[in-house]
Amino acid sequence: MTDAGSLIEALVAQLGNDGVLRGDAELAGFTEDWRGRYRGAALCVALPSSTAQVAAIVRLCGEHGVAVLAQGGNTSLCGGAVPAADGHPPIIVNLSRLRRIRHIDAANNSMVVEAGCVLATVQQAAADVGRLYPISLGAEGSCQIGGTIATNAGGTGVLRYGNTRENVLGLEVVLPDGSVWNGLTALRKNNTGFDLKHLFIGAEGTMGIVTAAVLKLHPLPTRHALAWFAPKDPAAAVRMLGMFQTACGAQLSAFEMIDAMQLDLVIEHVPNRRSPLAGKHRWHGLVELADTGRGEALSQQLQQVLEAAAAEGLLEDAVIAGSEAQRGTLWEIRHSVSEANKKAGVGLTTDCAVPVSAVPDFIEQATRAVRAIVADLPVLVVAHLGDGNVHFIPFFSFEQWQGVPDQGAMAAAIRRSVNDIANALGGTFSAEHGIGQTGLNEMARYKSALELGMMRTVKRAFDPRHLFNPGRLLP
Ligand SMILES: Cc1cc2nc3c(=O)[nH]c(=O)nc-3n(C[C@H](O)[C@H](O)[C@H](O)COP(=O)(O)OP(=O)(O)OC[C@H]3O[C@@H](n4cnc5c(N)ncnc54)[C@H](O)[C@@H]3O)c2cc1C
Repeated sequence: MTDAGSLIEALVAQLGNDGVLRGDAELAGFTEDWRGRYRGAALCVALPSSTAQVAAIVRLCGEHGVAVLAQGGNTSLCGGAVPAADGHPPIIVNLSRLRRIRHIDAANNSMVVEAGCVLATVQQAAADVGRLYPISLGAEGSCQIGGTIATNAGGTGVLRYGNTRENVLGLEVVLPDGSVWNGLTALRKNNTGFDLKHLFIGAEGTMGIVTAAVLKLHPLPTRHALAWFAPKDPAAAVRMLGMFQTACGAQLSAFEMIDAMQLDLVIEHVPNRRSPLAGKHRWHGLVELADTGRGEALSQQLQQVLEAAAAEGLLEDAVIAGSEAQRGTLWEIRHSVSEANKKAGVGLTTDCAVPVSAVPDFIEQATRAVRAIVADLPVLVVAHLGDGNVHFIPFFSFEQWQGVPDQGAMAAAIRRSVNDIANALGGTFSAEHGIGQTGLNEMARYKSALELGMMRTVKRAFDPRHLFNPGRLLP
């Protein structure tokens, strides 16, 4: 183990006094996760403001044998961005000062941004030149581009634009030996051997620290139509998804589903959220069409498909947003689920994906499995239905959770019961949030020995001393 004092002194020499945070009060916001479920000690938080400073920090940590934990907006939902409660305290390298937009090339539909740029800032900068950066999620006001790349974040635009992996053209990365890989290419075609960027996308900081990225941009849609609707049940929602895909093709840009209890929690716990539909419905969906140019109003197309769905008995009710403001309000409901759940109780969030056609079966089987463990336990469903990604959330009130004697064992048993069902249906336990600390046992269970072996071989080649985010991703 190292002499922490001399390492911190060397970091201060590199970053200046205000670039190194120490002491419990200064560290508090960096060593605990967004939901207050994970916390662990760190030697300090380093705040580099250039790629060269990140490289210097990594070299110093290497010399002192200290682990390096990259951190973006600290919005991970699986304990990925804070130190583990056990183990040696790392240095947290928080990227928030690397926040320059280096270059926008509208003609090439690309932009070069530093890792600490907040996602919403990047979306706005792209929109300002008539382009779309399509990754969109509830944490977009705080999560950073580096964090979304490290977790290969998904969100609500995946159906049309793919997840983060599909929207990154190039990367700049500081490797565990302190060298800097400049892979900031803005090319769509480049068949020159291994596409190395993919080693770092979704690697959760275990292979390198992303310091900048070339992002792929798209034409900015100028026309939108959004409906909030109540499908009869999840099977009807899947059927409607198919109808929209057939009728609207690439204009279909989002297709989400939540259940009634989830909607009620949002209305109860987040200010200014109201039910979009009159009357009670067990299931709710949000569908959006988007396109460029002028053309016919998309709301007519939306209306036609909704009417066809109603004629087939798939739909109980629907409302089409009548203005941009109303569209924003309906999206806010969808983006408020995590905030509501954090305030309302303890949700054991899962992050499964199954083939879209298997979603209704998954929800039914997972509900049964969870209630075999805790009778009548409420479950919430928050689904990016168009991607087959279901956040199935067994939900405890705070009082009920306090009464659970072994909370760790309960959470593990419940998540396992849900993940086993996803696995049996040909799905995954980790669709978009990443592995972090929550998913380590599941990695050991569902990844084959061959897959884990290949991952460990690659990891060893880059980080033989295992200093980058130890205790993450790889069991
Ligand atoms: C309200 C809310 C809604 C959310 N909705 C979604 C959603 O719809 N879809 C979705 O996919 N996720 C969602 N998330 C999860 C989370 O926001 C995303 O995973 C996001 O990508 C994390 O970004 P971050 O900057 O906060 O990263 P952090 O939480 O800080 O870090 C996440 C992981 O990435 C690593 N990391 C961070 N920055 C770097 C870097 N520069 N280089 C290398 N490694 C790095 C960290 O070590 C950690 O392992 C949501 C979270 C919240 C709180």
